[in-house]
Amino acid sequence: MDDDDVSARKGSFRKFLEHLSGAGKAIGVLTSGGDAQGMNAAVRAVVRMGIYVGAKVYFIYEGYQGMVDGGSNIVEANWESVSSILQVGGTIIGSARCKAFRTREGRLKAAGNLVQRGITNLCVIGGDGSLTGANIFRKEWSGLLKELAENGDIDREEVQKHAYLNVVGMVGSIDNDFCGTDMTIGTDSALHRIIEVVDAIMTTAQSHQRTFVLEVMGRHCGYLALVSALACGADWVFLPESPPEEGWQENMCIKLSENRARKKRLNIIIVAEGAIDTQNKPITSEQIKELVVTQLGYDTRVTILGHVQRGGTPSAFDRILASRMGVEAVVALLQATPETPACVVSLSGNQAVRLPLVECVQMTQDVQKAMDERRFKDAVRLRGRSFESNLNTYKRLAIKMPDDQIPKSNCNVAVINVGAPAAGMNAAVRSAVRVGISEGHKMFAIYDGFEGFAKGQIKEIGWADVGGWTGQGGSILGTKRTLPGKSLEAIAEQMRTHSINALLIIGGFETCDRIKQSASGTKRRVFIIETMGGYCGYLANMGGLAAGADAAYIFEEPFDIRDLQANVEHLTEKMKTTIQRGLVLRNESCSEHYTTDFIYHLYSEEGKGVFDCRKNVLGHMQQGGAPSPFDRNFGTKISARAMQWLSTKLKEAQGKGKRFMTDDCICVLGISKRNLLFQPVAQLKKETDFEHRIPKEQWWLKLRPLMKILAKYKASYEVSDPGQLEHVHHRGHEEPAAI
Ligand code: ADP
Repeated sequence: MDDDDVSARKGSFRKFLEHLSGAGKAIGVLTSGGDAQGMNAAVRAVVRMGIYVGAKVYFIYEGYQGMVDGGSNIVEANWESVSSILQVGGTIIGSARCKAFRTREGRLKAAGNLVQRGITNLCVIGGDGSLTGANIFRKEWSGLLKELAENGDIDREEVQKHAYLNVVGMVGSIDNDFCGTDMTIGTDSALHRIIEVVDAIMTTAQSHQRTFVLEVMGRHCGYLALVSALACGADWVFLPESPPEEGWQENMCIKLSENRARKKRLNIIIVAEGAIDTQNKPITSEQIKELVVTQLGYDTRVTILGHVQRGGTPSAFDRILASRMGVEAVVALLQATPETPACVVSLSGNQAVRLPLVECVQMTQDVQKAMDERRFKDAVRLRGRSFESNLNTYKRLAIKMPDDQIPKSNCNVAVINVGAPAAGMNAAVRSAVRVGISEGHKMFAIYDGFEGFAKGQIKEIGWADVGGWTGQGGSILGTKRTLPGKSLEAIAEQMRTHSINALLIIGGFETCDRIKQSASGTKRRVFIIETMGGYCGYLANMGGLAAGADAAYIFEEPFDIRDLQANVEHLTEKMKTTIQRGLVLRNESCSEHYTTDFIYHLYSEEGKGVFDCRKNVLGHMQQGGAPSPFDRNFGTKISARAMQWLSTKLKEAQGKGKRFMTDDCICVLGISKRNLLFQPVAQLKKETDFEHRIPKEQWWLKLRPLMKILAKYKASYEVSDPGQLEHVHHRGHEEPAAI
C-alpha cells in the first residue's frame, strides 16, 4: 500500500465537529416510560459526548418524577459514572411514570429545578408518551419561566438567560411502535429474548408433537410478533394492525393440519398482546388454544413471555444503535436554535437522521386511530416502510398458495451457498426457495458450493424441504470456499443439463453479529481479542463499539507504532481512574507485522506494574451458533427481494434467447445507506479492492471515531448528513419499501 493510499484513507474522517462547542451549556438526560435494553448505552453516549464537547451533563433520576422533585434527583454526571453500564439492561438512572408532569403545576416545578442548575438542553429517552410530554414542556417553557419569576422563584435575568429549552428525543421502546425510525432502542434485544425462547420451545415441541401458542409484548404494535414469526417461520401470527380475515378460525386449523400432514412435528402460533379481530375484539392466547384443542385435538400449550422480553443484556445491535443515537442527540442539541423544533434522532437504513418530534408522534397516533376506526390497511402503511414489507414477506413464506393458483414461469432457478458459512444463510435459502416457488419457478439446490456444482450435486428442492431452516446456524446446503474459475466448463455443463435460467448466490457475508465479550469483574487487566473478517474490519469495529473497547485495530485504518504507544499510554492513564479494565480488538488481518501476539507482548511489557494482559482469538465460534433475529430476518428479506428481482429479469429476458445480455443482469444485492440496492457486478468491480476482498469505501468507517470519543480519545466525528431536520416520510403505495 503506498503512502497516498494511507493518507487518503486517514483523510476520509474530515468534516469535523471542531466548530461545535458545548462550553457553558448544561444537558439533562432522563429515561422515561417503560424501560428498554440499550437505554444505558444511550445515557453513556450522551454523558460522554456531552463531556467531550465541553458541556455539563446531569442525570435526572426516575424520569419526569425526578425532574419534578429535584434535589438529589438531578446530579451532575462524570466520565466514570457511566462506566461499565454499556452491557447492562434496563436503565441505571431509573424510569418512572409521573402523573405530576402531566399537569402544568408539575411542569412548573420541573422548570424551576432545571433553571436552578442552568439546564436548558434536555435529552429524553422514552416512548411516544414521554416524548409528547417533552414537547409540551418545551412549548410552555418561556411561560413557565415567566411564572416562576412572577412568583419570585427566579429573577428576571435568569428568564432572559435561559429563554429557550432545546429538546431532543431518542426512542427507547421494545415494541418498535414509533413512526419515523426503523428500529427503536430495545427492540432487537427483545427479539433476542423471544427467539431464545422460541428456539428452546421448538426442541420440546418437536419431541412431543405439540402446538405452542406464544404471546409476545405489543399492546398496540405487532412488530415484535411479526418479526418473531418471520425469524422462526411460525405457522400463524396475530397482529393488531392486520387482523385475520373473517373465518380465520377454520383457515388457521386447515393450515396447522396441512403443516402436520407435511410431517412437521410442531406448530408455532405467535400472538401479539394486543391482537384483535376485524371487529376490534381481542383475540387471546387462551382462545386460540381452545380452538386448536377442540377442532384438531392437538396437545397445545400457551407461553406468555411477559417481562422476560425487557430483561437481559442489550444486544450488540442495540448497544451500537443507542451509542450512535446518543452522540447524534448531543450534536442535535448543540446545533439547535430557538427556531429548531424538538426533534427525534432515529435510524433510517444504516443512517442516523433527525425528524421533528411532533410529526413522529402524530403519525404514531394516526396508526392507533386507523386501527380504532378499522382502517387496517392504513394502519399497516402508516407503521412505516419496513413493517409492510415484513408482513408481505411473512405472508409469502408462511402460506403456500395452492398449486393451481401459482403461475407457471417455465424457469429453473438454482440456489447456491459459497464462501464461509454465516449465520442467516439458511434463512436466506428458505426464503429464496419459497419465493421462487410462489413465482412459479422450479427451484434447485446446489450442494457444497461451486465444487459440488461442478460435480453435479444439484437437486430440485420443494416448499416443505426448507421448513424450519430459519433458525439453523451454518449452511445446510454446504459451502466451499473454492472459486468457480477452474471448473467453469463443468459448471456450464451442469447449467445446461438442468436448464438453469438463473442462479442465486448466497455468500461472502463475512459478518455476523455474534461478538460478545465481558471483561468486567477483573481489575487492571487488558483483554486483547482477535476477530475474524479477513481484511474487513467491520466485526472488530462494531464489536468494539458494542463492547465499549479502548481500541480496535483494523486494516482499513492504518496504524503505526505511535498509535500503539498512544493506546498503551491511554490505558495506563485509565488504570489510575476507577475504570480498571481495558479491551482492545484486533482484526485478524489488520497488519502483517503487528500481530495479535506482538500487540499482546507490547502491551504486557509496557503495562508492567500497571496492568496485565490476556489475549483471546475468537476464531470459528464467530461463525457458529444459531443466527440472531437480525440475521434471520435480513437473510430472509434480502433473499426474497433477490428472487423477485430475478423473476423480473427472467420475464424481461423471455423471448430474447433466454440469455442475460447486459451488465445489470449480474448484480449484488445489499443495503446501501437507506435502501436495498442492486449493484451490477461490473460496477462493483470498480469499487472493490480485490486484493483484500473489501469494498474501497465502507459506510461503517464513519462510526470509528465514535468508539474513540466514547473511550476518551481525542477524535473527530462526522455528524449526520447534513445535520438537518428531515420530515417523516409518508410513503405512497407505489414506492417500494427499503427492506
Ligand atoms: P412511554 O413514554 O413509554 O410511551 P408513557 O406514555 O407512560 O410511556 O409516558 C411516560 C411519562 O411521560 C408519563 O408518566 C408522563 O409523566 C409523561 N407524559 C406522557 N404523556 C404526556 C403528556 N401528554 N403530557 C405530559 N407528560 C406526559
